[in-house]
Amino acid sequence: MSPSKSGSTVFAGIGASAGVALGRAYTLDRSRLSFPKYRLPNDDETAREQMRLKTALELSDLQLSEIKAKVAQTEGPEHALILDAHRLMLKDPMLVEEARRLIDEERINAEWAIRRVVKKLKTAFEDIEDDYFRERRADIEFVGDRVVRNLMGHVVDLDPEQGDSIPAGCVVVAHDLSPADATVLMRKGQVAGFVTDVGGQTSHMAIVARAREIPGVVGAGRASELIKRGDLVAIDGQTGQVVVNPTDEQIHQFQEAMRRNLVAEQAMLRIRDLPTVSADQVHLALLGNLEFMEQVPSLLAHGAEGIGLYRTEFLFLERDTPPTEEEHYLAYRSVLEQMGSRPVTIRTLDLGADKVPRGPGARKREREPNPALGLRAVRYCLKNRDVFMAQLCGVLRASVYGNLRVMFPMISGLTELREARAVLERAREELTRQGVPFAPKIPVGIMVETPAAAMAADKLAAECDFFSIGTNDLIQYSMAIDRQNREVAYLYRPLHISILRQIEFTVKAAHAAQIPVAMCGEMAGDPMYTLVLLGLELDALSMVASQIPLVKRIVRNATAEDGRKLLEQMYKLNTAEEIERLVHQEMKARFGDVLG
Ligand code: PEP
Ligand code: MG
Repeated sequence: MSPSKSGSTVFAGIGASAGVALGRAYTLDRSRLSFPKYRLPNDDETAREQMRLKTALELSDLQLSEIKAKVAQTEGPEHALILDAHRLMLKDPMLVEEARRLIDEERINAEWAIRRVVKKLKTAFEDIEDDYFRERRADIEFVGDRVVRNLMGHVVDLDPEQGDSIPAGCVVVAHDLSPADATVLMRKGQVAGFVTDVGGQTSHMAIVARAREIPGVVGAGRASELIKRGDLVAIDGQTGQVVVNPTDEQIHQFQEAMRRNLVAEQAMLRIRDLPTVSADQVHLALLGNLEFMEQVPSLLAHGAEGIGLYRTEFLFLERDTPPTEEEHYLAYRSVLEQMGSRPVTIRTLDLGADKVPRGPGARKREREPNPALGLRAVRYCLKNRDVFMAQLCGVLRASVYGNLRVMFPMISGLTELREARAVLERAREELTRQGVPFAPKIPVGIMVETPAAAMAADKLAAECDFFSIGTNDLIQYSMAIDRQNREVAYLYRPLHISILRQIEFTVKAAHAAQIPVAMCGEMAGDPMYTLVLLGLELDALSMVASQIPLVKRIVRNATAEDGRKLLEQMYKLNTAEEIERLVHQEMKARFGDVLG
């Protein structure tokens, strides 16, 4: 935090959801309560305290189940699932039994016992390196806070109806926002933005805000203590800057940024419905990557021609048990209905490695020594047939609601593809036996994201209907670098000759077998590579919504022929650095105005 001479105060937080907002602060008391601490004099008192704890736990569970029922209707199942995870924590022996033990053995009151256990559990999570899991400390805190508030008779939740009484256009400021708060606040887009003292980019609030395109800053230190309700607050969700009571000049700057965003938005809308065809008439379909169903409207608004990758493992967000067939079905049906006749590529669960945002159950599963090389994705599904069957039956049932395609991740060879197809076949038989309808012809494809699959692409192409190249993993496995490890991130080079060759081989194999080939890794959405990918003759690129207009502008102003010529020059060079330099120069020279 830094006070400026002018009286405005600046906080440097973490940009959690891009965009600029200016509005009056609406502070929410989400700070930790000071709670009573006392020793219990006798057994009667410990018994009474156990009773109070039991009631508070039951009340907490009831509150969460009520919120869940409301948000399941309005927000979709994934957001309801996180509330289930919180409910599971309320029953977790590590929380409940330990608190009970402290009450009995140490004779301390229930509030104190819960706080002590929460503190201990949070410390255990602190040692975990993975950002995602570290941030799950916040969930333990939310759950503990709910129980303590209930013990003390405090109001726990924003009333979902109260969402309407939060003034439109305000910036919500709070110590932290729970998933329950997030679902209420993010409804109807009436909130201009939000700021929290704690949290990170993968906190639930941040994920929901990004999906809704509501600007937000997390990790802003003591913002909630120092910002008063009604203060004027300006936030930049890209840089993480928060300015309280900005000067006229600062207000002007923020308004300018908002105006620029609006102009960019309008420019985007102008090209949204134009076809993505190069100047030499090559169509490169631009599709969207999807994690949450809330992102569908944004994908459509940015001109996505379909969904090239639906990362369904996000249905597991913070839960302990796999989604049921019904949950899968409802989620996919909703996405298909929103997408109309556009293709929707449902990737089966890519669980395992660091891909599983697991809830409390994560502690029960042993971590593999090399998770990225372990039981992940289709390997995990083939070992956990019930999980796989539930998903495939859900997929099939949803298939009658739109243009559905199913895609298996991490395929490394034909045997795995055949096994996965056999499970799909079993799911078909099961539904047929039950008399449940499903689409007769569902294209079945694979992610090409292991070097093994890329080099066996000709064999694989003979037995599937489409490919999608997952460069995030293809690069990880080709370069032998853990994609989470910053120490080796310098080797993450999409233009490395080995990657280019694998892409080229895969595309040629697909086209020889007359099947289409897309790319859905981050490389697909980076406009710096668009000309190269056009030259490599991919049929589709799938990316986050915000990149679609930019990539479209490049495709419409480029020719596939130029892309092929550029590739020829690239192949003559020797190192990834040389190739990158050439591509950057070429792209700057041709599209400097678009790339900025
Ligand atoms: C990829 O590996 O490129 C990909 C798109 O899948 P994910 O990032 O989900 O592993
Ligand atoms: Mg992948």
